[in-house]
Amino acid sequence: MVSNQGMLVVVSGPAGVGKGTLCRALFAEWAGLEYSVSVTTRSARPGETEGKEYYFRTREEFSKMIENNEFLEWAEFCGNLYGTPKFHVESVLKRGKTILLEIDIQGAIQVKKLFPQGVYIFIVPPSLEALSKRLHGRGTETEEVIQRRLDKAVQEIKNLNDYDYVVENDDINVAVEKLKSIIIAENCSVKRTHFSLKEE
Ligand code: 5GP
Repeated sequence: MVSNQGMLVVVSGPAGVGKGTLCRALFAEWAGLEYSVSVTTRSARPGETEGKEYYFRTREEFSKMIENNEFLEWAEFCGNLYGTPKFHVESVLKRGKTILLEIDIQGAIQVKKLFPQGVYIFIVPPSLEALSKRLHGRGTETEEVIQRRLDKAVQEIKNLNDYDYVVENDDINVAVEKLKSIIIAENCSVKRTHFSLKEE
């Protein structure tokens, strides 16, 4: 019988690259996968609900959570704070399941220090132009914020070598298939599994 250890998967990459859309599509067809819902100080966008996309908190509440050591990692991104609560990640890993974190690059660097055995996937846009188009198309940020996010993306793409896999988000279906294949293959990896012919 093959049994799995818990596995932590980090999906990261520049903002606007479509990480959220890819992860949502992945979860829609893969019920066994668990998602780490982050805490943020940014306001909810239309259609976002508390506890689904994020836990929306004030800066004060977020600071309290930092003080109480409740985050696995946290980072400031374009004027807002984002953090991964420790509790859920730890409980999923203890149950031997796979948990997926969709976080920015600063957060991914922090998590890698704590979980070097995790799987680190970097999502890239087909081009900077495509990224700009996506950020404008979202229609939720001001021109100034979009420009800041684009400048940041150029810097962030330089971190690619710290990751295990790179997935280009050109065709969403192809990108989702790639993500799925990576996670399935890593779950079958000998170093992450225990195999015994005897009942234990
Ligand atoms: P957005 O405001 O567009 O939802 O997210 C902005 C950025 O914050 C994205 O790159 C997203 O992946 C990242 N992010 C979301 N949650 C977390 C988190 O818990 N920690 C970190 N470090 N980044 C996060």
